[in-house]
Amino acid sequence: MTTTTDPTSRPAPVFDVRCPATNEIVGSYPLHGADHVATVVHAGRLAAKWWKELGYDGRRQRLDAFRGLIARRAAQLAHVVHQEMGKPYSDAHLEIALTLGHIAWAGRNARRVLATQRAKSHPLGANLAGQTSYEPLGVIGVIGPWNYPVFTPMGSIVYALAAGNAVVFKPSEFTPGVGDWLVEAFAQVVPEYPVLQLITGSGSTGAALCRSGVDKIAFTGSTATAKKVMAVCAETLTPLVAECGGKDALLVDADADIEAAAQAAVWGAMSNAGQTCIGVERVYVHDHVFEAFAQRVSAIVGCIRAGTDPAAKIGPITMLAQQQVIEAHLEAALDDGGKIRVSGAGESNGRVVQPVVLVGVPENSRAVTEETFGPVFTMRRVADMDEAVALTNASRYGLGATVFSRVAGRRIAARLRCGMVSVNTVFGFAALPSVPFGGVGDSGFGRIHGPDGLREFCYAHSVVRQRFRSPLALLTFDRSARADALLAKIVTLVHGRRSSMLAVQRSRESKRSNG
Ligand code: NDP
Repeated sequence: MTTTTDPTSRPAPVFDVRCPATNEIVGSYPLHGADHVATVVHAGRLAAKWWKELGYDGRRQRLDAFRGLIARRAAQLAHVVHQEMGKPYSDAHLEIALTLGHIAWAGRNARRVLATQRAKSHPLGANLAGQTSYEPLGVIGVIGPWNYPVFTPMGSIVYALAAGNAVVFKPSEFTPGVGDWLVEAFAQVVPEYPVLQLITGSGSTGAALCRSGVDKIAFTGSTATAKKVMAVCAETLTPLVAECGGKDALLVDADADIEAAAQAAVWGAMSNAGQTCIGVERVYVHDHVFEAFAQRVSAIVGCIRAGTDPAAKIGPITMLAQQQVIEAHLEAALDDGGKIRVSGAGESNGRVVQPVVLVGVPENSRAVTEETFGPVFTMRRVADMDEAVALTNASRYGLGATVFSRVAGRRIAARLRCGMVSVNTVFGFAALPSVPFGGVGDSGFGRIHGPDGLREFCYAHSVVRQRFRSPLALLTFDRSARADALLAKIVTLVHGRRSSMLAVQRSRESKRSNG
């Protein structure tokens, strides 16, 4: 580790970033400590006030300008993504394209979603008029992963910005250059105040951000790190949205379009070298179509090759430690009785991991229960979709899922315990900005994207005004016996009828069933 000079002229340690394909150093960034983080968050507070006052239209204009700038310089950004995390250029472009849709949606819809809403009254509060507005929280700390270094953090950043917050962004230590590029680009369209700021470093910088007094942390990363982040946030009661890992399943029904399902399974599992939170890691196939599906999957996977050259469809594994997890899961699957049905067209070597499809792996194997985060999936024959649903729901994760069925897609989707389901396509929910994104169980809590993603970065502010004095004075120590009696009558009239109606209905039903 070398040192550099920070703005306060004290030497700050720096860390190097290496390209996973070549191992060359592609950048060096400061390892920011708690003092620097505090200074940045303080500057963010002043910026947040100005940004909020800019209003929905002003913010939308700036977000549109940001979107335009990213679109025009997409090749430059794709190059930084490719260099730092190793994904092929075309995949980097796709990631950027999907992100632009979110910036457009968040800017365009913030006013509608967060507009002040009038509240309905009720008999005892007929004299009251209520309304709820959604106010920005202030400064949001965004902690991002490296696997989709543009799409994933921007899923929090742009929704927080559109809602009127300032943001301090801590990208993964593997992709700080992508974070730097985004923050620099934003500063070009918002030069007045540091509304979006960057801090760089390792986990300790992220922990400093959690302790810095920000108004919320939007964390995306592994479940294990989310637990650490939550513990640190608890010290200051800092709220948290946690987007964590997954073990997503793809279900293939007897009437599914086999070609489409096979393509979706392979791409959903293997693209981005399988380093996708919503990546397909388990496939459950109806007995009637298992062989046809498995043959098609084998044909597709057999032609795909991972490598570091431009022709390879799958890039290298970004983190060396992850490559060891993938290997351990493959070993566990084989030790537990599983078999390799098909693997990719090239050689696995170091960070280059060829795609693998496993069959016959017991459901209690690590390869089925834990997130692999590599170009690997298990494939299992099931008697029917009831079994597929039960196996899917047996996971402690609950991020996304995919269903292929011509007739019963939506019915099957409704039975899955997870945050998002894609029917007859894969990753549909990530491409549609208007639907919330997030999971249940070990996949986390809270939502980004869509209306929920905007509200996630606001607090509800309710105002209730008395329009006229109620003839029934209840909120006073001078409440009279007459008022108490009247209240009892109203309560019975308004609420009591419900239970007596239910009792009548039940007695009618029991008479009918007794003959
Ligand atoms: P990690 O959990 O290792 O890291 C995520 C972020 O947290 C990084 O910026 C990391 O910094 C930071 N961090 C690490 N330790 C701490 C700490 N103690 N306090 C605060 N911040 C900390 O995840 P990865 O970056 O490896 O990303 C892969 C994981 O992310 C997978 O599990 C994947 O499923 C999940 N993911 C979830 C998504 C979702 O939307 N649900 C989307 C994308 C990924 P540093 O890198 O510098 O250590």
